[in-house]
Amino acid sequence: MSQCLKEVNEKLNKLGINSDKELAHYYPRQHEKRQPKLIKDLVSGEDAVVIGIVTDFLITNPRPGLKILSAKITDESGLTIRAKWFRVLPNINVGDKVAVFGRVKSDMLLEMAVKDYDICTDDSIPEDFNGIMPVYPLTKGVSQKFIREKVKTLLMGQYKIDEFLPEKTRRAFKLPEIGQALKNIHFPSCDEALKQARRRLAFDELFLMQLALKLKKDSIVRKPKENRYTQNNNLIYKFIDSLKFKLTSSQMREWQRINLDMSSPFPMRRLLLGDVGSGKTIVAAMALLKAAGSNHQGVLMVPTEVLATQHYETITEWFSPLGVSTALCTSGTKEDTETADVIIGTHALIQEKLNLNKRVGIVIVDEQHRFGVAQRLALQKKAGCPDLLFMTATPIPRTLALAFYGDMSVSIIDEMPPGRIPPQTYITKGKEKAFGLINNELRNGRQCYVVCPMVEESEKVDLQAAISLHKELSERLSPFTVGLVHGRMKTSEKEAVMKDFKDNKYSVLVSTTVVEVGVNVPNATVMVVIDAERFGLAQLHQLRGRVGRGEHKSYCILVSNPKTKQAAERLTAMREYNDGVKLAEIDLKLRGPGEFFGEKQSGLMNLRIADLDNIKMVEVARKTAETIELNQRILKELKDRYKLPDNA
Ligand code: ADP
Ligand code: MG
Repeated sequence: MSQCLKEVNEKLNKLGINSDKELAHYYPRQHEKRQPKLIKDLVSGEDAVVIGIVTDFLITNPRPGLKILSAKITDESGLTIRAKWFRVLPNINVGDKVAVFGRVKSDMLLEMAVKDYDICTDDSIPEDFNGIMPVYPLTKGVSQKFIREKVKTLLMGQYKIDEFLPEKTRRAFKLPEIGQALKNIHFPSCDEALKQARRRLAFDELFLMQLALKLKKDSIVRKPKENRYTQNNNLIYKFIDSLKFKLTSSQMREWQRINLDMSSPFPMRRLLLGDVGSGKTIVAAMALLKAAGSNHQGVLMVPTEVLATQHYETITEWFSPLGVSTALCTSGTKEDTETADVIIGTHALIQEKLNLNKRVGIVIVDEQHRFGVAQRLALQKKAGCPDLLFMTATPIPRTLALAFYGDMSVSIIDEMPPGRIPPQTYITKGKEKAFGLINNELRNGRQCYVVCPMVEESEKVDLQAAISLHKELSERLSPFTVGLVHGRMKTSEKEAVMKDFKDNKYSVLVSTTVVEVGVNVPNATVMVVIDAERFGLAQLHQLRGRVGRGEHKSYCILVSNPKTKQAAERLTAMREYNDGVKLAEIDLKLRGPGEFFGEKQSGLMNLRIADLDNIKMVEVARKTAETIELNQRILKELKDRYKLPDNA
């Protein structure tokens, strides 16, 4: 390989480009409209191309490391603009005819901060200075011009782009041909061409993602499961009869779907979505009973000890009258997990020592977003090949759920148990208003949460803040009692405080976010969140879901002084909406899918151009992936894009 080629390749590698195909698919992050204008027609604040003669220039060095070249350029309208280059200076001389592109500014003088330039060799406008030009994501030592030239050479040259979508599919959705789309994503002839190119490439991403998920789903489902259940659901009917309330129709409908899945010879892989408080636990309980009723074990894994204990207590209360035994399995307690019908536990369940035997019929993972993929897989592996039910209160729009969890069936409980009054949300700058409200509610016999943020980087400071807040509240609210839980406490200590709060021995619970997940205290009516701007929308919604679980009116007070526009928008959204799905949509818009789902889960989200909130396209892509007749071309494209080995 020649020295020069090696250098070129090194530069490309820096951008993650290792093949012609990756270069062709290195999409611009935006485009610039480059249009030559006479200096007399320039408007301050816009980008423009000026073509003129360099009449003078000067290089200055205002501080170490910063060099500026400032050139006077006069064009045929007879006016002059001062063009400035920073750091990387051009090789120009007085008398050169140049084309410069950049942002125009007019203070006293007309100025331009030059982004790109070229020397004119004849009367024509230099290539790249008239039309819509790509702007690529860059890294140090690689210039726009470099990558632009490489892409252009590739696309205009011998490089052959294989169309992998059948003509029928392209026609049905009016998608341009792939070669055309790639040319136009880099060098569009007009806005419309760019738009169509984007549609095509976005479709490809979504389609291939759906296809990957579908193939994964198919490959898993093909193996029949070892443990089957009897058709008899008597235990479940008995359980439903024993409840003090009626199941909502959503709960009933989704239970029936789960029941059907569990009755199939193939393992269930289902995701149960439902807003905080929508009553997922009962549905899980029915699935556990179905396993227990056929003498198989049911396992429920949850992210925290507090939650494990809570579920254990609730479920034991439900199940013991039915003669179904339960065992708790956390790092602290290990009951007899060999013989119990139902095991409830934390990730202690996946530790080596524990022997989950072949009897396990179903594994349910609650608050599944809290677990990494590896943990879920480990549990699954340990338990053989059981039915799987993942539950989450991270509300996501339905189509998004379908897109993201394309390898699972999706259930959504989209209804709250009757009689709930949604909490009223306020935003205040200071704590006083919140404390006043707390005082009132305590006098009415209610209980309150006060949550402080706790992030690892500033753990010490945060902890101190929580401790002093606890002290302050204890003094001001006396004789009412205030409990404190934080992440640094031992699990047993946390449990004790949480339990006392549940039993109304504490009127107020000050906590760092450990209270976030799943805790159920219906008598609590106020949720105060300190420095609320430091929480994400999903988290705030989860926190707010801790109140409004009983018959009393409830409140959520967000104490905050947001410093960024995005933070302020998040808080306003909280005040405006109680609907988790709506909030999720907003969150997705504000933060993008990577943040939204957490890095842990975004493995398959190889999306660079597609928008997951383009719901219509997600649907079309999913349908296409389900119905398309697979051929070698499509599979090859899939392997290329996901960098799968050839035998995958
Ligand atoms: P989540 O979906 O957040 O896990 P839970 O399962 O903890 O919600 O249920 C929240 C509360 O609602 C619990 O106290 C539960 O007993 C109650 N609940 C569940 N289903 C119903 C129903 N159909 N009618 C009345 N209350 C219900
Ligand atoms: Mg729950």
